[in-house]
Amino acid sequence: MKTVNQSFQDEVRRRRTFAIISHPDAGKTTLTEKLLLYGGAIRLAGSVKSRRAQRHAVSDWMEIEKQRGISVTSSVLQFEYMGHMVNLLDTPGHQDFSEDTYRTLMAADNAVMVIDCAKGVEAQTKKLFQVCRLRGIPIFTFINKMDRAGKDPFELLEEIEQVLGIESYPMNWPVGTDGQFRGVYNRVKAQMEIFEGGHHGQSQVSAITGDIDSPVFHDLLGETLHKQLMGEIELLDEAGNQFDLKRVLKGELTPVFFGSAMTNFGVQPFLESFLELTLPPAPRFSQGKEVDPERPDFSAFIFKIQANMNPAHRDRIAFLRICSGRFSKGMNATLSRNSKKVKLAQPQQFFAQDRSSVEEAYPGDIIGIHDPGIFRIGDTLFENDDLIQYDDIPVFAPEHFAKIHAKDSMKRKQFIKGIQQLSEEGAIQVFRPINSGIEEIIVGVVGILQFEVLEYRLVNEYNVEIRMQQLPYRQVRWIESERFDADAFNLTMDAIIALDQDDHPVLMYQNEWSEERIMERNKGVVLQPIARRT
Ligand code: GDP
Repeated sequence: MKTVNQSFQDEVRRRRTFAIISHPDAGKTTLTEKLLLYGGAIRLAGSVKSRRAQRHAVSDWMEIEKQRGISVTSSVLQFEYMGHMVNLLDTPGHQDFSEDTYRTLMAADNAVMVIDCAKGVEAQTKKLFQVCRLRGIPIFTFINKMDRAGKDPFELLEEIEQVLGIESYPMNWPVGTDGQFRGVYNRVKAQMEIFEGGHHGQSQVSAITGDIDSPVFHDLLGETLHKQLMGEIELLDEAGNQFDLKRVLKGELTPVFFGSAMTNFGVQPFLESFLELTLPPAPRFSQGKEVDPERPDFSAFIFKIQANMNPAHRDRIAFLRICSGRFSKGMNATLSRNSKKVKLAQPQQFFAQDRSSVEEAYPGDIIGIHDPGIFRIGDTLFENDDLIQYDDIPVFAPEHFAKIHAKDSMKRKQFIKGIQQLSEEGAIQVFRPINSGIEEIIVGVVGILQFEVLEYRLVNEYNVEIRMQQLPYRQVRWIESERFDADAFNLTMDAIIALDQDDHPVLMYQNEWSEERIMERNKGVVLQPIARRT
């Protein structure tokens, strides 16, 4: 057993690891860019802009991958701010790759939810929010695009509470709306913050701060706006929720910030407050027991495997979230699934398009290591003899299904290998139907573009052309039953039973009505929307 030294503890305690969730177009890319600008990681905003291309059609998306020689689907951005080491887990912009986002959220300690002030809570935000809920992590809300016309701020708070079922506490309040956004009233510091400059968002803005009653603000805002603001703040204080940090940390209360990622108004107060409120990496669970991040022995889990990070090498990178101990380059660790010793070679950190070699890393950090084909999503790696096995990463229910087979039956071997590797990477989920007359493999995906990626990659990496036929099923649920007997199961015409990649039975069906009817016919069966592999 190693001993803890002060600098190790300091490194752990200054880590803050989070991911941003949002519906496409709400401003996640812009906010990411601005956080990096304030973090000093980029001088002029705009460097991350090309990442927007990831929202376009899959063909463009793959073209970009080829040209840039790197996957646009993943990266981890690290920067220092106010003495903290901030890890921002970047997630795919395209909602068809949200399965990737779900898994990335497993590695985050906090989430920032970006909401477009004109649109409110949108479909994708809702889905991603549910995944954060599942983890019970703190969720911070950034209401974006305040420089434009939007919904009334009170209405937005109500929408968050109603639609998502989480209480909200505005940390600041917008000064001026609908094209007149000037700044915010900071409720924690009880001060006005009126922003200036920023060269249309290219550089940091400066702020005029002071007491709300100061004549400066009466003059700056004019009497009408000033009076309205005073009234709104009074209303919030009297009728709004109480701030309670414990509830924030449990994910029961979301601190809300107003701002504009485009003009940088409100970005800095948000970042600073976020860093003040969030905690360092929390203990994670290994077989029901907490593992302290400050435990000196290294441990980590794999939440993502990404192929073709560099098509020239056809390499696979496994992304590790470090949970305890210090990581150092070239160290040895045990893979808990099979107790094999592995050398953690070629560790890398990713910053937008660039990757750099890592010498050491700490709990909360994410690193990528070369995967010679031995890792799986959910694997734990640990140092020394005490077995650590972190809870597995849940498998989320796909929403689209297709049966597939190789066009050329002589290529069945490559086909099977390709399908297996892609499913290990989590790029697709594979099901084998039983008693249904369907001979082929069924592939399930969360977003329809994943099918195109599958087809493209099977041709390019495994030299296999496939025939694919989409199936009408829209839902899959894992069947929980002590003694499951497929033959005795009473199905409807529009449903089938299949086995997942771990031979766990699942029910595939078209809509809620089929589910209801099946549940009526098979009393006592429990259906789960998420599979846990262990
Ligand atoms: P993402 O899909 O969530 O990553 O969204 P982007 O960051 O790419 O933003 C989508 C669009 O909204 C882009 O045209 C941005 O320039 C614009 N946008 C982002 N933030 C703001 C903002 O604060 N104000 C305004 N007016 N537009 C914004």
